[in-house]
Amino acid sequence: MAHLVTDRELRHSIEVTISGSRDFLVVVSPYIDIDEDIKKAFLKLHKDTLKVIVYRVSDKSTNQSGITEDSRQFLRGLPNIEFVSVKNLHAKFFMNDDYTVIASMNLTSSSNHNYEVGVEIDNKKDFEMAKDCIEYLFYEVLASDDSDISKERLKNILSKQLFSLVINPNEVKINGEQIDVNKFKSMHEQCNVKHGYCIRCESTNIDFYPKNPLCPKCFTEWSIYRNSNYEEKHCHWCGVEHKTTINNPLCGACYEVYDFEIEREWKKIKSKDKIIKKLKMK
Ligand SMILES: [Zn+2]
Ligand SMILES: [Zn+2]
Repeated sequence: MAHLVTDRELRHSIEVTISGSRDFLVVVSPYIDIDEDIKKAFLKLHKDTLKVIVYRVSDKSTNQSGITEDSRQFLRGLPNIEFVSVKNLHAKFFMNDDYTVIASMNLTSSSNHNYEVGVEIDNKKDFEMAKDCIEYLFYEVLASDDSDISKERLKNILSKQLFSLVINPNEVKINGEQIDVNKFKSMHEQCNVKHGYCIRCESTNIDFYPKNPLCPKCFTEWSIYRNSNYEEKHCHWCGVEHKTTINNPLCGACYEVYDFEIEREWKKIKSKDKIIKKLKMK
């Protein structure tokens, strides 16, 4: 669920959003003057992580920029970074693959002393809100004449898209869309599948299939209460001791791999759909 964060907690949340980015990071902040902690957060990023920095210019003719020279120099030294200046930018948010933080604060050290408020969104759980946020940026802010981004650069940024997988005994949703179980199963079978562990009793007599991460015996027990938040003990894929639930049956590392594999299969299906649509139009 989206929740409110304030002051120090908000700052921390922004820092973690920066350092926790995998495929992409979007920073929308009119004013940017980063301190050592934020620099450290940026330095943790993988070289392939696409970093998009959106900041304010007061007036295109004078080109008075909202980003300090020191911050620009530092960020410029990072690989795979895109700067976009936007006239009249006042919106502020920070987004990576997993989280979005919409905040009153700029990415400046002087904001540390201010009263600031924000909302942290889990992209997977509140996919619609996260999607609205990124669409607002791409289709309204960056596509407007106030932004200095070219179509080519915009395409490069858009190629990295949000992906959300929700999987539990009742449903499978990809990017907010309910997926037919058989269709999902065929995607799942393309992944690097081996046997799984029961997240409750660690039995290895079950297939790896995150939609059903309990062995038949434990599932029968679970079905009495059907509590999706009941805490279990093991990762369904690697068996390591980890706090899991029937809705979140994987440890962090396994989740990342599985999510990546399903995303790959999903993209294949989507591009196939696109080709079929094009052929039908002819
Ligand atoms: Zn079991
Ligand atoms: Zn695991």
